[in-house]
Amino acid sequence: MLENKNQSRTSLTELGEFKLIEHLTEHVKIHHDHTVKGIGDDCAVLDATEKQTLITTDLLVEGIHFDMSYMPLKHLGYKAVMVNLSDVYAMNGMAQQITVSIAVSNRFPLEALEELYAGIRLACDSYGVDLIGGDTTSSNKGLLISITAIGLADKQDVVYRDGAKANDLLVVSGDLGAAYLGLQVLEREKQVFQANPNAQPELENYTYLVERQLKPEARKDMVRLLKELEVKPTSMIDISDGLSSEILHICKQSKVGCNLYEDKIPLDQQVISTCEEFNLDSTTIALSGGEDYELLFTVSQEDYPKIKANPNLTVIGHMTEQKEGVHLITRANQKVEIIAQGWNAMS
Ligand code: ADP
Ligand code: MG
Repeated sequence: MLENKNQSRTSLTELGEFKLIEHLTEHVKIHHDHTVKGIGDDCAVLDATEKQTLITTDLLVEGIHFDMSYMPLKHLGYKAVMVNLSDVYAMNGMAQQITVSIAVSNRFPLEALEELYAGIRLACDSYGVDLIGGDTTSSNKGLLISITAIGLADKQDVVYRDGAKANDLLVVSGDLGAAYLGLQVLEREKQVFQANPNAQPELENYTYLVERQLKPEARKDMVRLLKELEVKPTSMIDISDGLSSEILHICKQSKVGCNLYEDKIPLDQQVISTCEEFNLDSTTIALSGGEDYELLFTVSQEDYPKIKANPNLTVIGHMTEQKEGVHLITRANQKVEIIAQGWNAMS
């Protein structure tokens, strides 16, 4: 995980906006030739290419999207970038640049923003993305971060949510549910800490879950892999809100139905054991948990031989005609309708 070693406090008001921007961005590296101008002028300048440009933006608000009591700022910076890159990869494109805008209250010292930017820079350097600008302003209370990511893809490679066809296979990368459980573990530790500030956090049995919550990785590797395997998904989306709502997005936009098989949903061992411990249903967690940042996509049946042996990819269902609806086929072989937050247990 990412460590936070910074303990001193320099007031932001002492520094002023321009010095602050300069300070936070002095180590920024440019990775792409087509980033003609990054930070420092009225606009960044990008060279036009023959490819199509993908643009996505996300706004994160303290107290709504993150809680500073268990989210170290370096992780927050890293995660805020990942959330955006994930959207670019979900279009089957490659992220190239980001802009970062922050609104910050004077409750935060300079050192806190240095941590935030250390995480942002780490993400940019590991994923080959250029930080090319942003905006900085103050807020009365709390921290806001808005990131915009710019990506590129060849026109014929762009994958939308609306291309799934009946009989296509439904595939997911990685495993599901861990990030949500990581949050539950951190929430529990926070309460223990509030009751007894001398308590030591007990996280050894939950390392994978906490890592998935605090340091998610966007699946750039999957975009590369699909290219290597010569598989172009018919539709794709990233899993930010939980499997069920992402399936419903694809089904609605593609005008298809879906059968999802409960026994195929990929779960890490820590997810299974922690669900038992917390008395939670692992299928519910995978369907509704969210923040996994895995890719969910559909491929035509012909592509099955190309993906079947890959340990990072799991076929979890198949698409149907729209009139057949969207269903989970349970381990007991019951067919239950999938609704936005999980599935309709009443049906
Ligand atoms: P302007 O007054 O034209 O908005 P600013 O003084 O806000 O310019 O910004 C100066 C430069 O620093 C610009 O290139 C801008 O994109 C960049 N910048 C401002 N804030 C940030 C930030 N939080 N992170 C990265 N770059 C920033
Ligand atoms: Mg500005």
